[in-house]
Amino acid sequence: MKNRRKFFKSVGLATATALVSGLHPKGSSAESKIKWKMVTSWPKNFPGLGAGAETLAAYINKLSGGSLVVKVYGANELVPPLGVFDFVSSGGAEMGHSGAYYWKGKTEAAQFFSSVPFGMTAQEMNSWLYYGDGIKLWEEVYSDFNLVPRPAGNTGVQMGGWFNKEINSTADLKGLKMRIPGLGGEVLAKAGGTPFTLAGAEIFTSLQTGVIDATEWVGPYNDRAFGLHKAAKYYYYPGWHEPGPSLECIINKDAYDQLSDQLKAIIDLACKAANIDMISDYMSKNYQALEYFKKENVQIKQFPKEVLIKLNKISDEILLELSQKNKLSKKVYDSYVNFLNRVRPWTLISEDGYLSSVK
Ligand code: CA
Repeated sequence: MKNRRKFFKSVGLATATALVSGLHPKGSSAESKIKWKMVTSWPKNFPGLGAGAETLAAYINKLSGGSLVVKVYGANELVPPLGVFDFVSSGGAEMGHSGAYYWKGKTEAAQFFSSVPFGMTAQEMNSWLYYGDGIKLWEEVYSDFNLVPRPAGNTGVQMGGWFNKEINSTADLKGLKMRIPGLGGEVLAKAGGTPFTLAGAEIFTSLQTGVIDATEWVGPYNDRAFGLHKAAKYYYYPGWHEPGPSLECIINKDAYDQLSDQLKAIIDLACKAANIDMISDYMSKNYQALEYFKKENVQIKQFPKEVLIKLNKISDEILLELSQKNKLSKKVYDSYVNFLNRVRPWTLISEDGYLSSVK
């Protein structure tokens, strides 16, 4: 009490009252309540990704004591899944939850902020984003679109996908029709396969009817929900094309600039909390789904080393081409690749060194 009185005296009663009430915003007065919309690229409450958007909104609502209330909209409720970027950019909604690689048509450099083939793991990615130049560069790339980006989730390394025939050599990739979007698809195309970009809802039927021979989706948790084990025999790892996919929260810059410093900090911390929540959620659900697949006698196989080496080589070429498209792509590529080259030796003797020595 004594300290409290001293504190009030030193900063002045009015300031202190404002500070204290700022820490516990009442949120009851109508004029202090800010209402935002969050559009997402996921079906409402979709496991993992959609749940991550809900978690983020819940954190913001709670931490702000109701002074900033964010309402989540599933894909197609206000805009289609891939309309999120434009909608938030133009102020149709103040906030969005999505993945940066969907926006390569807007700006090629965006792809580095989600996941690139044979790129960083989730831990390495977070390290680059928070403690390297990642977020700073991301802000620069999105500033042309009136958007402020924040990392807001990560699935962790994905699975290589579901196949109806074994992949024993690079020759088995020739003519392979596989649902694999983005840069991973470009790599497959250069290896002789035919990449397909299909929305989640179309995957099962396309695989079952033979429109495609193979598909990647996310990992055991999401793949089980789609019943992909009922449409393909082999489940391959690792997800070389998506080793640590980061999800994004995007905020309309005009709306963001109008917020108090406190609400801006709340958004930053809520995004950080949502980031760790999502990867923890995936970890806890993926192992359970993996146990289920093993019981169902799904054949879980590792890609042969020869195949991974070949895909890695092609991937390096494609990333280099991407870096040559424009100045900003080059700037982000340089930062990403330099960070990866410097952080990887540590990952290999820490995480990988531990795991490979005790298994
Ligand atoms: Ca995927």
